[in-house]
Amino acid sequence: MCSATFSQTTIIRDNTIEKMVKEVSPDSLKYYITSLVAMGTRNTLSTQKDSKRGIGAARRWILNKFTQFAASSNGRLTGFIDTTTLFPDKKRIDTTIVLGNVVATLKGTDPADDRIFIISGHLDNMRTNVMDRTGDAPGANDDGSGSAAVLECARVMSKHPFPATIIFVTVSGEEQGLLGAYYMADKARKENLNIEAVLNNDIMGSNNSSGTNIIANNKVRVFSEGIPFYELDKNAKMIRQLGLENDGKSRQLARYVKETGERYVDNIDVVMVYRNDRFLRGGDHTPYVENGYAAVRITEMNENYYHQHQDVRKENGIQYGDLIDFVDFEYLRKNTAVNLSVLASLASAPSKPQDLKIDVTRLSNSSDLYWKAPKSGKVKGYYILVRETTSPVWQKKIFTSQTSATLPYSKDNYFFAVQSVNDNNNEGLPELPGIGKN
Ligand SMILES: [Zn+2]
Repeated sequence: MCSATFSQTTIIRDNTIEKMVKEVSPDSLKYYITSLVAMGTRNTLSTQKDSKRGIGAARRWILNKFTQFAASSNGRLTGFIDTTTLFPDKKRIDTTIVLGNVVATLKGTDPADDRIFIISGHLDNMRTNVMDRTGDAPGANDDGSGSAAVLECARVMSKHPFPATIIFVTVSGEEQGLLGAYYMADKARKENLNIEAVLNNDIMGSNNSSGTNIIANNKVRVFSEGIPFYELDKNAKMIRQLGLENDGKSRQLARYVKETGERYVDNIDVVMVYRNDRFLRGGDHTPYVENGYAAVRITEMNENYYHQHQDVRKENGIQYGDLIDFVDFEYLRKNTAVNLSVLASLASAPSKPQDLKIDVTRLSNSSDLYWKAPKSGKVKGYYILVRETTSPVWQKKIFTSQTSATLPYSKDNYFFAVQSVNDNNNEGLPELPGIGKN
C-alpha cells in the first residue's frame, strides 16, 4: 500500500474560462429574447410555414444563429433541426406535426474523448390554454430565458476548443409533455451516448415572486433528484447499505454546479434543492434522468405565477403574461455565466478516474482508495473529496499526483470521491468509489 503525500489546495480560476464568463452579455441575451418574443407565439402546434410567426420561424431563427456562430468555430460547430413526426396522442397533441429540436454540436478536439455535455432550454411556449396555437404568447422568461442562455453559451464557447463535445439545444414540445427532450434522451440511450451532464435551463431570468414581496437576483436554484429513478430496483440494496441516498449522479452534478458556478461568477449563490423538480411542474432534465444520465434543472429563486402560462391581460390592476419587461438581464447574465463556467470546466477537464475502489475488508480508522488514470485527458493529479455524511457539500479537497491513497479519515464517518484535475485546474466530475480491493 502506498501512502500519498497530501496538500490542501487553494482553488483558482482558469484564466480562459474567466475571460469567457466575462464575455456573457446582457445585451446579447436581451436581443435573443426580443427576437423570440417578436414571433408572436412559439406554441409547438403553431404554424411552421409562416416566415415571421410561430414555432417554424422560431426554430429557423435559432438555427440561423447557430450557423452564424459556426463561422468562427473553425468548423467545429454544426447546427441542424432534428425532427420527428408526432401523431395525435389524446393529450396535448391533437394533429400530426413535425416536432423539431434545434441542435448545435461543438465537436470535441480529442478523438479519444467520447464525453458529451448538454445545455438545454425549450423553444416552445404556451398561453393559459396549452392547445391555443394562434393567440400571442410572449414566453420571454418561459423559456425565452433558457433559450437565450443556450444561444449565448454557444456564441461565446464555440470560439474555443474543448477536448470533450458540448451540445447546445433548444427543444420543442416541452409544454406538450417534454416531448422534444424525451425524443432526444431516448435516442441517446439507444445509441448509448456517453452524456455525462445535462443542464436544463427553464425560467431563469426573473427576480421576483408573485404573492410575496421578495425580490432577489443573487440566488439561483439547482434541482436534482435524490434516489436515482433509473434502475432503482437493481441498485436499491447497495444505496441502502452504503448510505448513498444523497449521492446519485444528478446530486453530484448539482454539487459541481454549486462549487464551480460560485467560483467563477460573483454575487450569485447556487442553492441546491433536494428534489427533481417543483410541485405541479415538469422539466426537460427528467427524460435524461429516466434514461440514467446526470441531469439537473437550473431555475430562478423566486417564481412569479402571474407571468407564467398566462394570456397577456390586466385584471384587478395585476399585469398577467410572460412579458420581456419582467426579465432582469443582469440576473440572467449571471445565471448564464454559471452554466458556461460549468460546461467549460467539465469539457476541458480530464475524464473520471477509472476503477475507483475503497477497501472495506478490515477494521481500521483510516481509508484506502485505489484508482486508475482516466480514459481521456492529461492529468496533473487528483482531488480526493471528503465530507461528513450529513454535509451537503464536499468539505475537503486533498491533492495527490498518485493513484492510491491512505486517508487518515475513517470510512465509517465520511464520504469520499475522486476527481481528475489538469494543469489549468479544470476538474472533472467526482467519482464515488465502489467496494473492492487493489
Ligand atoms: Zn418552461
